Amino acid sequence: MEIKFERFHLQSDLCSPLQGFETISVPTEVRIDPLTKRRSRIITWGLPSQGKYDFSKMAEESSACFFCPENVLQKTPQFLKEIVPEGRIRIGRTVGFPNLNPVGSYGSVVVLGYEHFLNLNQFTPENYEEGISVAMEILRKTMAFDPDTRYWQISQNFLLPGGSTILHPHLQVIGDPIPTNEMEWLLDASSSYYQRNGTLYWKDLIQIEKGLGKRYIAQFGNVHWFVSYAPIGFNEVCGSVEGHGSITTFEKEEVASLAKGIVSTLKYYYEKDLNSFNFSIYSISGEAHYQLLIRIISRTPIQPYYLNDCTSFEVLQSELTANIFPEELCREIRPYFA
Ligand SMILES: [Zn+2]
Repeated sequence: MEIKFERFHLQSDLCSPLQGFETISVPTEVRIDPLTKRRSRIITWGLPSQGKYDFSKMAEESSACFFCPENVLQKTPQFLKEIVPEGRIRIGRTVGFPNLNPVGSYGSVVVLGYEHFLNLNQFTPENYEEGISVAMEILRKTMAFDPDTRYWQISQNFLLPGGSTILHPHLQVIGDPIPTNEMEWLLDASSSYYQRNGTLYWKDLIQIEKGLGKRYIAQFGNVHWFVSYAPIGFNEVCGSVEGHGSITTFEKEEVASLAKGIVSTLKYYYEKDLNSFNFSIYSISGEAHYQLLIRIISRTPIQPYYLNDCTSFEVLQSELTANIFPEELCREIRPYFA
């Protein structure tokens, strides 16, 4: 195994007005991702929480949206009859249909239940079990129609900081015949790791992380939950599903284990006064050296004077920042996975 956890310690010395202009040292850590070799910057200071935001006015003003139960079956698009003869896919209280504003070959929306707004502690495992099950149906039916569509992202953008204009909780399910940048980096790096070591990177990583115990959170069924060594976003929690590269091969057990981990992470975010997040499931078929990954990150919460969390560092230097040490996040979040 050649998994290395490399890091650089940087230090900034200055005379602080907060401490009578005494010299202080502020550390920053730069970590190298063991797979992709991408650098992440972990800053050791953070702005104080502004408490929990009251969403009642925002929810009231935007109520009865296109995704609300009285509109969703009347005002949303339908799939081509060749793909889904019934037009939309419905499981329980969850409904999937094509996105009116797609960004690729096959873009769908999956509305997670009847509630127009949910605080992060109100999402239930059933929301995501149904959501992932509808996504699985979309993938299976679309790939039966167009087998070249191997690259899928099942993502959630929650609230304005997460990039969603619609409050009503929903997933984005996007399939293409070509990978995204991130998918290509993951696949290329996983494949070259295999060529060099003859083993699956993800299996090796989980074995090492389990042994170290500093970043491994919990195992639910076949899903291993951990904090990545070099996060690419705030409060990043990862899950990897043993034996699967795509959600198309999931059984009920994998769906439930993934849903449980997502809900556990959101409960932790809620307790930390966070309210906006993104996640992506990288679901890729036909790749022998890849194992399905989900990444969940928090975004700067909605607050009266919103602060964007992508600075020139992220958008122009391609260097991602995080504001909590992965080991500390792992310690804090573990009880939420109990
Ligand atoms: Zn709604």
